[in-house]
Parts: sequence; C-alpha cells; structure tokens
Amino acid sequence: MQILCVTQDFPPNSGGIAVFLHNLCVQLSRLGHLVDVVTPTRKGCVEVDVSQPYRVYRYDCFRWLSCIVPFCRMMIMHKQRHYDVIFIGQFMTTHAMGALVLRRLLRVPYVILSHGNDMHYCISNWIDKPVAYMILHNASLILSNSHTTAKHIQQRGYQGPIQILHPGVKADEFRPNMDTLEVVKKYKLNGRRVVLSVSRLVARKGHDSVLRALPNVVKQIHNVLYLIVGQGKEETRLRRLVTELNLDKYVLFAGYVEQKILPALYCICDVFVMPSFALDGGHDYEGFGIVYIEANACGKPVIGGKSGGIEDAVIDGITGLLVNPDDVEKISKTITMLLKDKKYASELGKNGRNRVECELDWEIVGKKIEEILVNIVS
Ligand code: GDP
Repeated sequence: MQILCVTQDFPPNSGGIAVFLHNLCVQLSRLGHLVDVVTPTRKGCVEVDVSQPYRVYRYDCFRWLSCIVPFCRMMIMHKQRHYDVIFIGQFMTTHAMGALVLRRLLRVPYVILSHGNDMHYCISNWIDKPVAYMILHNASLILSNSHTTAKHIQQRGYQGPIQILHPGVKADEFRPNMDTLEVVKKYKLNGRRVVLSVSRLVARKGHDSVLRALPNVVKQIHNVLYLIVGQGKEETRLRRLVTELNLDKYVLFAGYVEQKILPALYCICDVFVMPSFALDGGHDYEGFGIVYIEANACGKPVIGGKSGGIEDAVIDGITGLLVNPDDVEKISKTITMLLKDKKYASELGKNGRNRVECELDWEIVGKKIEEILVNIVS
C-alpha cells in the first residue's frame, strides 16, 4: 500500500500522539508499505527525519496559511504518488480538508485516529464545526485510542464505524531487569525506594496529588524518593509546592531525559504513579496514557487515576491500581502499600509485562493497523 499520513504532532515533538504516530509509521514501513508523512517543520526535525524508514515532508506553518499549505502539499503529493489511503494522525479540520477533497473528487479513502481532546477542540469552534462533521462523516473509519475516546466521539452524534486502536510499547526496548547502574549513579538513587512519574509537566497529570500524598508515605518509608521525569510549564509551580511541603529531600526533578535512559529509569522504580484527572469540564483528559504500559513493560506496578481512557491502559487489580485522582489519602495509602508489599507489586508488574507481550507490543499494533488499512483499501 501507499499511505499518506498527515499530522500536526510528530517527532521531534514529545508526547503520546507523536510517539503513537511515529511507531505506526515505522511498523507499516517495516511491513513493506510506502509511508509518507506530511507535518510542520519543528526545531531539530532534520536530524530526526533522516534516520526513519518512512519519508517526512515538512512545511512551514504560517498562521493564516495553516490550512492551505498542507492542503496544497497533499494534492501535489497525491498527484505524484496516487496513495491508496490517507491516514489522519489526529482529528483536525485544517489538515483533514485535503483528505476530504481527495475523497470526494478521487474516492481516496481516509481514516482518522482520535486521541481524546483533539475532537472536542475542533468541534467546539463554530467555524470548524460544520467542516468537522463533514470530515467525520466522509471518513471510512474512525480509530480511537480508548473506549472513553470512542464514547466521546459517539456522544458528539457520530454513528459511523469506529474501532479501538490502543497504542503500544517497544517490548524489547522497555523490558524488566535492565542495567540500572548508570542511572543510579547519575541521579544518586542508591538505597532509595523510587516512586516515578514520566510525563509532560501539565496540570492534569496529577503531580500535585502525589506531592500532597508524599508526607504520609515518608512517615512509613523513610528512604522514599519521588522522581519526576519530563518537562513542562508546571515545573516552577511544582518546585514551589515541593518547598512549601518541605519535601526537598524526597523529590527529584530529572527534566526531559534522553530516550536511551528512559527504560532504565522505569526499571529502577518500585512503583509508577500518575493519577491523571480531567480538566475543562471533562474535555481535557488522558486519552490512554502510554507511560503506564511503558512502566508495565519494565515489569513495574502502576497507579493511575480513575479518569478518561486510563481504564484501558491500566487493568485495575491486574496490571496496576486505579485511584480517585482527588483522593490524596488513598494515593498515599496505595503507594505505601505497594512499596511494602513487594510480592503483590511484583505480581501486578508481571501481569503488566505479559499483557504488553501479548497485546501491546508495537509489532502487534502494527499488524492490527495494517489489517485495518488493507480492509479499507480493498
Ligand atoms: P501524553 O503526552 O499526554 O499523550 O501522554 P502519554 O503517556 O500517552 O505519552 C507520553 C510519551 O512521552 C511517552 O512515550 C513517554 O515516554 C514520553 N515522554 C514523556 N516525558 C519524557 C521524557 O522526559 N523523555 C522521554 N524520552 N520521553 C518522555
């Protein structure tokens, strides 16, 4: 197949959507398909693009041309390559306009992968709304990263075909019992019980609740350390909170870490925690949460928030535990319990690893997307 993927969010951007789309493109390329990606220029993209098995076509995005440039790009590229299918990497009206026109004029099918918030923010704008509905109803299929996202799309009045496609994880890169010597030395983790969060530092990830839960954990586990990996606009506020709560000895901000040491950081932790919650009246929520399955892939138990699509990422009581993200006391009790009960913690981690191997390795997810696209094309 010849596939054109269109997205606004792609590496070197960090975050779940970029990770999801990059890996789908890698898998489809490895399965022998030609994959072209159209996406805006970002700082550092040249270095990232050259080492990929797919081709990336960048364009500069000027505000008032944000719709026209990718639209023209898609038309020209389709004229040259005659794509079998167009893959819209996240719901957005501007980029999907090209796909809509190609569908109506040349019957080229397109699918849209929705991640949660993307649909809401398009449809809430009165100018985009009618176009968004046209784009939705002309799609051959809507893919959704979780059951919650699918429900949100259906609540918007969409009744066409919809299928769940969970993101995956590289099971050979994120694996249990990796060599952690280097990270132990770098972050001075020797003799510490490590509670870990990995994410962009944005409000809805729930770092606040973990920090507020920490004093009670410290009372029972004196050598605990809360390691916060990732960067974002919340960092200054979170650092202030750490000082206010007198937790400086118990919290370490690692900032954005290189991909090559990330698996070892998961391996060094005792518990992974991220009690994400929804904002903006329930519209800004965790669509899935790749980080939970990355931690599981390293054999670690996870604590997630009962919110958004996390129930698809964390099987409550099997691969981790779900807590009410506002319940600070419950968060502190759950962290403490998993730090104390190593046998139970290890059982959750093992179940998580098994699930990744059976269902969520990128190779498995890649074959799924291939099957879906082949069905649409044929
Ligand atoms: P989302 O960004 O809200 O969609 O959250 P997800 O949990 O779905 O995805 C986040 C992705 O970004 C995961 O693959 C993380 O490993 C990755 N990520 C977050 N922070 C960092 C970091 O500091 N370094 C690296 N290398 N990856 C990170």
